[in-house]
Amino acid sequence: MQSVQLHHINSNRKSFSLRNDVKSLHFTMASDLRLMSLTRDDAARWYRVAMDSGYEGTYPYVWLRDNCRCSECFSPPSLQRMSKMSDLDPEVMPLSEELLDEGSKLRVTWPDQHRSEFDAAWLNRQRFSEMQQDTVSCPIRKSWGAELNGRIPAFDFQKLLQDDLELYNWLDVLNTKGLALVKGAPTEKGPSRQLAERVAFLKRTFYGEVFEILRKQDASNIAYAPTELGLHVDQLYLYHLPGVQMLHCIERTNIAGGENQFVDGLHVAQQIRTEFPAAYQLLTTQEIDFRGGGTTESGNAFHLKSSLPTIKLDRYGEFQSIHFCDVTRAPYLPRVPVAQVTELYRALKLLYEIMYRPENLVRHQLAGGEMVTFNNVRVLHARKAYTFTGEGSRHLEGGYIGWDEVHSRMRVLHEKIFGDVRL
Ligand SMILES: [Zn+2]
Repeated sequence: MQSVQLHHINSNRKSFSLRNDVKSLHFTMASDLRLMSLTRDDAARWYRVAMDSGYEGTYPYVWLRDNCRCSECFSPPSLQRMSKMSDLDPEVMPLSEELLDEGSKLRVTWPDQHRSEFDAAWLNRQRFSEMQQDTVSCPIRKSWGAELNGRIPAFDFQKLLQDDLELYNWLDVLNTKGLALVKGAPTEKGPSRQLAERVAFLKRTFYGEVFEILRKQDASNIAYAPTELGLHVDQLYLYHLPGVQMLHCIERTNIAGGENQFVDGLHVAQQIRTEFPAAYQLLTTQEIDFRGGGTTESGNAFHLKSSLPTIKLDRYGEFQSIHFCDVTRAPYLPRVPVAQVTELYRALKLLYEIMYRPENLVRHQLAGGEMVTFNNVRVLHARKAYTFTGEGSRHLEGGYIGWDEVHSRMRVLHEKIFGDVRL
């Protein structure tokens, strides 16, 4: 192994912390980070660097060449690489290297005389084998229960349309808690679309871009009672599930009952994991089929099918989403051994009973001009039975926004408000 000590800069070590939350994030943009030393290790084909933050890391030659930030190799506006794999040599060995501007930049010259410059701050963000805390894609989630009764975070509709910080805070609450109210929306159709277009666009499904729930009752037939709609997640027969759901109450007159209920699937999953590990094991591994059929407005028949575990975990074994719905659960359990079917139903029943524990249930009666917004793959929602008490009407409009679109908007807003830098 050939190592060459290239450069040393005396500097006081400054304290520096990894991005932990939104508030501290902009402090990490400091461009005064410096490389204190750079060591070439040709046997391992990487540089070892030490920064004045105290961070010591290794940067493989081929990775540096592949991620050259020059205008030939990279396009900042689109965040896209312009260099090609056909031109990349995994064995590439730099011709030479130097630290510029007192260590705030690393310049590498490659065998073809191509030059790459890397900011110390940029290198500092690219830490290999370390858990990167991207608070947008991997938010620090806060589970909740009945303590949110009467205290659901609320945002003003008009302010959301005008104020970027308000918009960011609403999306952040959806990302971390998964439930927020929006008040002061017009009592007419359209606010769901307006809000979605402030973020990105509505997610279109077979039911259209928005869905409408309208039930009117004339005085001659008051007895009709829409029955209770149990806790569920929408459109589980899709693999690309609706991310954020917006449900806007346009009108609610002469109605008794019909309150909305919300339960945090993350919280429920934590409880069943602790209390009933065997049931948790089944719910996280055995897939259930969901189906949905119908005909679109333009006359196209559709038949949707997905196969999902009731509680989906990510690759680190952490809660990702919950998939429970009585209405769309199909009979097909293609991969569940028949000897486990009854046990799977016992687990589903346990999950259902935990969901409805009073300490998990958040109730809210949506009023005209109010919207409830929630993470459709985390928060289960329900509606109690209601009756008309006279000539009345219940009119709601809803729509969805995808999580990719929400996260994209959050990154852009973060950059604009807090001065974050793009990768
Ligand atoms: Zn380049």
